[in-house]
Amino acid sequence: MVKEEKIKFVDGKGITRIETVPDQQKLDRHKNLEYYKDILYQCGKCGTCRTGYQEEGWFRVCPSGEFGKFEAYYLGGKNLISWGITSGRLDWTENLANIFYQCSVCLACIQQCQIPEIHNYAGEWLMAFREEAVKKGFGPMPEQKKYTDHISKEHNPYMEKHKDRTNWITSNIKQSPNAKLIYFVGCTTSYREKSVAIATAEILNSLQIDFRIFKDEQCCGSPVYMTGQTEKAKKIAETNVDFFKNEGIEKIITSCAGCYRTLKETYPKKFGLDHGIEILHLPEFIQEKLKNNEIKFNNNLNMKTTYHDPCHIGRHMGIYEPPREVLNSIPGIELIEMPRNKQNAWCCGSGGGVRSAFKDLSSFAANERIEEAKETTAEAIVSCCPFCLNQFKTNIKNDEIKTFDLSELINKAIKS
Ligand code: SF4
Ligand code: SF4
Repeated sequence: MVKEEKIKFVDGKGITRIETVPDQQKLDRHKNLEYYKDILYQCGKCGTCRTGYQEEGWFRVCPSGEFGKFEAYYLGGKNLISWGITSGRLDWTENLANIFYQCSVCLACIQQCQIPEIHNYAGEWLMAFREEAVKKGFGPMPEQKKYTDHISKEHNPYMEKHKDRTNWITSNIKQSPNAKLIYFVGCTTSYREKSVAIATAEILNSLQIDFRIFKDEQCCGSPVYMTGQTEKAKKIAETNVDFFKNEGIEKIITSCAGCYRTLKETYPKKFGLDHGIEILHLPEFIQEKLKNNEIKFNNNLNMKTTYHDPCHIGRHMGIYEPPREVLNSIPGIELIEMPRNKQNAWCCGSGGGVRSAFKDLSSFAANERIEEAKETTAEAIVSCCPFCLNQFKTNIKNDEIKTFDLSELINKAIKS
């Protein structure tokens, strides 16, 4: 296993190995495809990005490549196609764009590549390729267009009504109307995984935190941005930031990995919206409370669990330890790691627009992760992203293993 002291967090990309991969050529992040054209050809087509290695041995890391079964679907192939496009040797076609959308942008491949510039920046051009595909009229995929168009009308990608967004809030949940801290719930939690919203709000109540939830909360824009529609996503971001500012918000807690990455990273770094608001993912907030002895657990949950790292807080943002620390602190919880964990975790297959546009690829990835979790003998897969949770619930058959969001376990353990 890679030792913690040998890795560092690289702003905007997540974890990288400092000893083996120095940042040889300093590049900017979030640029267009053209900007990266001179480094694309550094890819040696070695295929190392297909597999990872931990103490348990070699394992595969790329859902897109393992499902597509051609080099084009692995990072090496995507690099070659990107080079072909930027050097004028290839023309844009629907098929080329399709290959790039059959990728959950999980970034497991770039962890494995030992070419410094590719290791550190390939995530940038995987996104830049999508952005360019949209400009050329080859993206997003039709299913993605449908739900992202719905965001413009009803502020959520689930074809639901905006007015129903906060239906999950009951009179038991106490809010402080003037609080400068908000719980940003997100679309998946609001409409599909309401138990996560309820658990999070109840935890905040138990901890006597002054907070509020915007009745008019809107999608953070992640589904729009991740499908390459940058300009449209930026407008959503501007609306949200104006709203936060007008309401005097200083701190945001979210229980969604996608919202977290978008608010904390994409808004300031990609869209230049330096909102200055502190953004915390729920486990980070709970970890802080644990350190200050401000949490009292009242119940023993007596459960063997395994933890699934959501890509958007793991490889995208470098958050690996807070959820594990919180999980380990809950009485009666045993954490058994899956062989592929932390920076090498296998993606659940729901992100990057894959779940809507490429259902077979998406369930292929989910089923491989579920099998891996079952092999640990854990009773439940725990994650801290409602999209991962929903993906596991959809793909787990016959209750062969349970699945929970970390917030649900924290709440159960706190309740008196
Ligand atoms: S991206 Fe890196 S690991 Fe993958 S084929 Fe290219 S050089 Fe090899
Ligand atoms: S980002 Fe994930 S799915 Fe896409 S090529 Fe890399 S490992 Fe494969």
